[in-house]
Amino acid sequence: MSRIDEILAFNREYVATKGYEPHLTDKFPDKQLAVLSCMDTRLSVLLQEALGLRNGDAKIIKNAGAVIPSPWDSAMRSLIVAVYELGVREIMIVAHTTCGACHMHFSHFKEEMLKRGIPEEALKREDIDLDAWLEGFHDTEASVRKTVAAVTDHPLIPSDVTVRGFIIDSATGALTEVR
Ligand code: ZN
Repeated sequence: MSRIDEILAFNREYVATKGYEPHLTDKFPDKQLAVLSCMDTRLSVLLQEALGLRNGDAKIIKNAGAVIPSPWDSAMRSLIVAVYELGVREIMIVAHTTCGACHMHFSHFKEEMLKRGIPEEALKREDIDLDAWLEGFHDTEASVRKTVAAVTDHPLIPSDVTVRGFIIDSATGALTEVR
């Protein structure tokens, strides 16, 4: 059985036994908060738990590295929706220690892609600079500052929205603010 088939079996049981009941809520974040963090699996449960966030408290947006590489990328779009449609007034950018996205290099991706049968021509693109798009950030604090600035300075984010940056310890959940 594949992992997904296992999940489907679990899910039928979960719904049948009303496992969802403690989590019932609506689409508006009770704390008027959005959190942009990393997709790292160490944070799957730890992030919400260490921040004391229950289901329904905050909009949680995740990507590789908790970054906003372009003002018009998907994470930024989600934050704009959170502000204007869902009543978010405060935004936390939460990167984390020993993030995989810190040490990414395009050269590694390229090698792996060629091994997996992606043709060389597919990597020579005019529509995007793949080298920059898949490059890691190398300095976590600097990356958090850059992401906070990307939101704060965004032309469509109003000045009454608070944006603060943090690094969470991937093991203990301890938050350190980046100033
Ligand atoms: Zn990460």
